[in-house]
Amino acid sequence: MSECLFCKIAAKQIPAKVVYEDDYTLAFYDINPQAPKHLLLIPKLHLENILGLADDTAAHMLAAMRCIASEQDFSQGFRVVANTGEQGGQTVYHLHWHLLSGRHLGWPPG
Ligand code: AMP
Ligand code: ZN
Repeated sequence: MSECLFCKIAAKQIPAKVVYEDDYTLAFYDINPQAPKHLLLIPKLHLENILGLADDTAAHMLAAMRCIASEQDFSQGFRVVANTGEQGGQTVYHLHWHLLSGRHLGWPPG
């Protein structure tokens, strides 16, 4: 069995508040939200980070992101973040896109 946290969430071995699911992707609430709505969008198949993201999987993630943005009413604006590697702030090494919305988001990030 995979020891990867997000593989376990994708396999429903660990509970999560799922807001979107299709054959290729899953989106759920971040357990430590940094915005009023803070979701994580993952590919179901394990992938360490965005550097290994193949075009077909990227297309599925983009389609899911568009669907979520519509369903979750991100019309006031939102941010997509893929922390990558140690200096990029990545702590879970299964690719995930943070989808943040519901407040003015500062720039640049710390
Ligand atoms: P990152 O630091 O970019 O790798 O993001 C990992 C994110 O996963 C963090 O924002 C955590 O709050 C979130 N996280 C960790 N464990 C869980 C969990 N069991 N369910 C939902 N989100 C989680
Ligand atoms: Zn994984």
